[in-house]
Amino acid sequence: MSLAPAPTLSLDDRFARELPELAVAWQADDAPDPRLLALNEPLATELGLDPAALRTAEGLRLLVGTAVPAGANPVAQAYAGHQFGGFVPRLGDGRALLLGELTDVAGRLRDLHLKGSGRTPFARGGDGLAAVGPMLREHVISEAMHALGIPTTRSLAVVATGRSVRRETLLPGAVLARVASSHLRVGSFQYARVTGDTELLRRLADHAISRHHPDAAQAENPYLALFAAVVTAQAELVARWMQVGFVHGVMNTDNVTISGETIDYGPCAFLEAHDPATVYSSIDAGGRYAYGNQPIVAEWDLARLAEALLPLIAEDQERAIELAVAALGEFRPQYDAAWSAGMRAKLGLPDGLDDAVAAPLVEEYLTLLQAGHVDHTLGFRRLSAAARGDVEPVRNLFLDLASFDAWSERWRALAPDADAMDRVNPLHIPRNHLVEEALTAATEGDLAPLAPLLDAVTHPYEERPDLERYATPAPADFGATYQTFCGT
Ligand code: AMP
Ligand code: MG
Repeated sequence: MSLAPAPTLSLDDRFARELPELAVAWQADDAPDPRLLALNEPLATELGLDPAALRTAEGLRLLVGTAVPAGANPVAQAYAGHQFGGFVPRLGDGRALLLGELTDVAGRLRDLHLKGSGRTPFARGGDGLAAVGPMLREHVISEAMHALGIPTTRSLAVVATGRSVRRETLLPGAVLARVASSHLRVGSFQYARVTGDTELLRRLADHAISRHHPDAAQAENPYLALFAAVVTAQAELVARWMQVGFVHGVMNTDNVTISGETIDYGPCAFLEAHDPATVYSSIDAGGRYAYGNQPIVAEWDLARLAEALLPLIAEDQERAIELAVAALGEFRPQYDAAWSAGMRAKLGLPDGLDDAVAAPLVEEYLTLLQAGHVDHTLGFRRLSAAARGDVEPVRNLFLDLASFDAWSERWRALAPDADAMDRVNPLHIPRNHLVEEALTAATEGDLAPLAPLLDAVTHPYEERPDLERYATPAPADFGATYQTFCGT
């Protein structure tokens, strides 16, 4: 038995105290046989937690919510949301709990949250549980996103509960311990708005300003400034997703954060062949959340946030709408600026290059990738070798060599910076076939494939001979039919 002390953790309940209308005090279900599947030691340390203590029996009880630190007040959070365009006024944490907020070693306030911890009053028809595979999937992909420098919620740990979960078959259950700068979402504001209680809406907005966008408090119109700050954060976030080929898969308004962190890794996946129409989610039959739609969908989701905030933006509704529309109008230029800056970096283009030269180079390269069904990740990563003079590795990815050569000649004439490209174009993304392999094995009790996968995706830019397998696209028979499943 380990002699490491039980983790001492001081959790605040600021959300529950400031917004009791959005919080239902609740406890996690019992976990008969908790077993640690993944622990994020660097994150634990960042949070001021001792990894050794988290590995003890008492630590595991904390991570599944059955031992609540003294003074903590776990709650299920209420929120609403547009799901695939249809408004649901009451969603909320059906299978999750906010344990509370902690202050990390850098002095930042972070939510500690559990997912898969049992039914809550928001569970509707759901069982409140989560299976090992999807929780490890969130662990792997959120840590990959973090390593790519993309704002995201983090995974502290995944603990198997020892309880079965009924899906199409019986699966082992797990709880994910998630860390976020908060769990406020567009749907939180929609929920508050629907209550008709403007003072609640104001308290929520003040809470969000204080936690995420403190500069807004000094603005002439703080609530309009809050909205504008969320617009900026989301424009920048979605541009980053697009650059790495990330498909979120379920951009409902309850999955769009106020902080600008990526949240809820349900049916998400990374592109292989570059194609704007790519959809992985089995429930997204209409392709609403296809790769190429993500910027437009983010803008749509932000319009729903604007609607929720209207009573705070101005007393006169017409005036509020006018101000909100103008602020939302910033989304496209901000998205375009973030997108083109990122794409220029991916192509290693020199600073200050005229947009009339850079923009067509970017667009034409994407057209070439799409026409040739070229792997998005390798299509960019291998360009750096070409910038160093070795064109064949990337050229081999294309079918229409004449078009590639014509493009490549123009691009190379600009003297692209290969080293800078290697710092922004990942070699290791969570490849769908390798994620599936690791999750299937873990579901069957074999954790061996998980470690090298995590090693690869948390070192996205590092070329290493031992990780070559993680830099290779799926076999041809895997990709075409690959589907992901939501709410599992
Ligand atoms: P999401 O998958 O994040 O879009 O979840 C949408 C809503 O369904 C949220 O309110 C979740 O809490 C809820 N939900 C998803 N899966 C379950 C489940 N197994 N049990 C209870 N609620 C769930
Ligand atoms: Mg969600």
